[in-house]
Amino acid sequence: MTRSAPVGPVPGIEAALGLFRTDRLQAARAQAEALSDSDSPMLRADAATLLARITRRQGELDVALAACARAIQAAEAAQDPARECRARVQKAHVLAALGRIEAAAEESDLARRLSADSGDAAVEAAGLEALGAVQWAMGRWTDALASFERMQLLATSAGDLELQAVAQGALASVQGELAQRPACDDPGLHRRRALRHAAEYLRLASELGDLHAIRSARHNQDVAQLASGDRAAARRTFEAVHGEAGTGEARAVALLNLAEMDLEDGAAAAALQRLQDAHALLSVLGDAAYLQKCCELLCNAQEALGELAAALRWHRQFHAHYVQLASDRAQMHARALEVKFETGRAQAEAEFERLRAERYERAALVDGLTGIPNRRAFDRALATAQRHLADGRPFSLVLLDLDHFKSINDQHSHQVGDDVLRRVGRVLVSSCRHMDLAARYGGEEFALVLPDVDASLAESICERVRAAVEREPWHEVSPGLQVSVSIGCLGVAAADHALSIEALLAAADQRLYLAKRAGRNRVVGARPEAGGAPGP
Ligand code: GH3
Ligand code: MG
Ligand code: MG
Repeated sequence: MTRSAPVGPVPGIEAALGLFRTDRLQAARAQAEALSDSDSPMLRADAATLLARITRRQGELDVALAACARAIQAAEAAQDPARECRARVQKAHVLAALGRIEAAAEESDLARRLSADSGDAAVEAAGLEALGAVQWAMGRWTDALASFERMQLLATSAGDLELQAVAQGALASVQGELAQRPACDDPGLHRRRALRHAAEYLRLASELGDLHAIRSARHNQDVAQLASGDRAAARRTFEAVHGEAGTGEARAVALLNLAEMDLEDGAAAAALQRLQDAHALLSVLGDAAYLQKCCELLCNAQEALGELAAALRWHRQFHAHYVQLASDRAQMHARALEVKFETGRAQAEAEFERLRAERYERAALVDGLTGIPNRRAFDRALATAQRHLADGRPFSLVLLDLDHFKSINDQHSHQVGDDVLRRVGRVLVSSCRHMDLAARYGGEEFALVLPDVDASLAESICERVRAAVEREPWHEVSPGLQVSVSIGCLGVAAADHALSIEALLAAADQRLYLAKRAGRNRVVGARPEAGGAPGP
């Protein structure tokens, strides 16, 4: 299999999926990992989703969770709701397996919504798989049954063998659970259904060549046969598995099941023989969970044979596996939490960066001393207002300058001068509407941009501002302090839209100069010689 010439998402994934089905999990995993670096977000999503399925099957839930996060991200980048749905289905499974049912429910809900929008039966079936898995984990068997039944119908209509197999397997398990419930009024009926679904599951899994599914279908059959009291049938299934050339694990598990039946039947010596074989197989595989079970049964078998010293030895080993398993599980949980934390931290950092950028952006537009908008913000507002002139919207431009501010600094201190600037800033802001802009233009000069305000209205606003500044209780800032402001006010009409910003500013400044020359603490809203007509 060469990947040197990328030919679209399908071939690489198909090959990996093929390996996955034939249960060459490590090979499938390597393939999926290699593909997850692809430039195509669709292929990345497919590869990461497959990786999640493989690692989930391998019991590495933390790796699976991280793969799900990557798959979702890639699917979002590809804007592909069907792929996002499949990734979220996997995530719901992983979360449910980690016991985080609420998060799993949330995820399956998202998957369901995505799948409902997709209009694709296979995707909708996958969405129902997630929902059923969560209901299953919550012990809501009847709901889970309904979800999986609908999933099975959809998967069949979509012709998706893999989803059909999953649905049949799930249905077999749910029917088995239903049969065991104390409230069940017809356990026999549910067992028969469980057996039928298990048989169908086995057929589909064989057709797909999915060894894992075949094993779990057999297990479903065993459980259903044992539950229905058909021990001979169950024994036949176990013996068939044990006799197969399949993986060591499947044979070892069949041996464990057979040994357990032997022990129940009082055939301790036969059980011991099978368990010793199983132990040899499992020691090579190193699966702590099955080893634990094996040691427990070996202990029971030796006890039944009266070999108490041997029984104690096996019990010690059982205990060692038990401890290892418990710490493995704890570690897995810790790693899964870490992954979750890492993902959360990445999000938090991105959010923090965004806020910081926003803060910088804002800081660049705010005057440090007064906390009101600065010259830059004013320039922007003025440019915007000028652009809107062409749409027929007038505005007014106002320049304000504190009177004899130099003497305030000299007589009361620079500190008092600063306080005065801050207070004037507050007065201006509180005199303005929401859409107006009051800015510190520089030094002891301020400016206003008043959108949709014509010359005469602007003049009365300026007069109010002038009076408000004068009326401030300045003695609170410094005894004997008096502050006033001179104001040049320019109403700009739509007809002035051809005038440059520089010309507008010069005209407003001219009026401010006239206000100063006329004795300060006053508003000049029109050139005296022009009789109130606006314009420079
Ligand atoms: P006029 O009525 O003609 O405007 O007289 P003025 O004294 O206000 O005008 P002038 O331009 O002579 O002086 C402005 C003073 O404002 C000089 C400068 O030290 C002071 N000033 C500028 N920025 C600040 C500041 O941030 N804080 C303080 N305390 N003073 C400032
Ligand atoms: Mg000045
Ligand atoms: Mg001044």
